[in-house]
Amino acid sequence: MIKTVLTAGIGLLLVLSAVPAGPVNAQTGLQVLDNRAVPEYPSYIIFRLEIDSPFGISDIRLNYRVNRDSFVNIVCDVKPDIAGTPVTANWIWDMNTTGNPPPGTVIDYWWQITGDNGNKYLTEERQVVFDDLTHPWQVIEQGNLALHWYNGSEAFAGELMNAAQSALAQLERDTGARLARPVDIYIYASSSDLQRAMVYVQDWAGGLAFTGYGVVSIGIAPTDMAWGKRAMVHELAHLVTYQMTSNPYNSIPVWLNEGLSMYAEGELESYSESFLREAVINDSLISVQSLSSPFSAYADETYLSYAQSYSLVSFLIDEHGPDKISELLETFSTGANHDGAFLQVYGFDMDGLDEDWQVYVNNLYGVAAARQMNPDWLLLITVLAVSVLMPFILLARKRLVCR
Ligand SMILES: [Zn+2]
Repeated sequence: MIKTVLTAGIGLLLVLSAVPAGPVNAQTGLQVLDNRAVPEYPSYIIFRLEIDSPFGISDIRLNYRVNRDSFVNIVCDVKPDIAGTPVTANWIWDMNTTGNPPPGTVIDYWWQITGDNGNKYLTEERQVVFDDLTHPWQVIEQGNLALHWYNGSEAFAGELMNAAQSALAQLERDTGARLARPVDIYIYASSSDLQRAMVYVQDWAGGLAFTGYGVVSIGIAPTDMAWGKRAMVHELAHLVTYQMTSNPYNSIPVWLNEGLSMYAEGELESYSESFLREAVINDSLISVQSLSSPFSAYADETYLSYAQSYSLVSFLIDEHGPDKISELLETFSTGANHDGAFLQVYGFDMDGLDEDWQVYVNNLYGVAAARQMNPDWLLLITVLAVSVLMPFILLARKRLVCR
């Protein structure tokens, strides 16, 4: 299997390198004999240059630029190993030291050659696509979405596409947020297939959002559709939020980012809701200010953080309407700080939001609300059952990496 993959990767590159290598400059006599980049997803890209020169070479540099959304134009400049006559230059981009970009990433590259006369010469700019050729990908496209998959029927891919499209439509109705640029979703057959496609990834990861690349990678078996649809929609919503709000000055509160993704998934799942209910009853909610920074690494606090994030976004939409949250995202896109954006749009800052939301969530889940629905002993049993069972529920769940 691995052999097949490698052969396929090299095959692609031979096609790329079949373009005739012309002289850098006809008058200089410098001849490019070979100029190629060989990707071996997800671990390496090997860059190779071979030149014939009528004069000595004092230096060769490889320059490359990764195509991703960025506020600065970053060109990497690296020194390859240089040897022999004709002169060859080789450089390996080892993803084991940098982490790998997602499948489909396009990299532009060119070489800078310095002659011993001090003159500099540039080769033509070329592109290499860092495709994951490990699997026989198929693709369906609709609107701004391309969904790539290799395991399962066309109906399986169609069902995922429909789930993605209806989540996008719902998100736009409720928040005004929408995809402005194309997104590629790669559906791996399992979490372990996904993890094999990444050199650095936590072994519990079920899905990843590469916001700057417009890519979601996720492992979904056809037998795991309920989880898969929610997880895919969650990551896709992160790309929507990123496209709506990214700016070079400030990031949005973490709870707003995660809350929009949780909201896009649909109703809060009952295990997640029980965390929220328990925290309301025990008066152990996390403050909105704390939820504005990256969430705790402790599992039960993490799950409460996600549940509160969902609830905060629901509160903003239910109580203040879609137009306001749309305006909030627009305000954040200009680089506004957290309190400033809320004050401008809603007239309250994050502490004010915390106060108003506490009233809302206590009405939903507080002791008074719970007593109306259940006698005290039933409430106690519910809280105890959630506390005892939660570690097992959490162990059984795959988690998402939101970058
Ligand atoms: Zn997330």
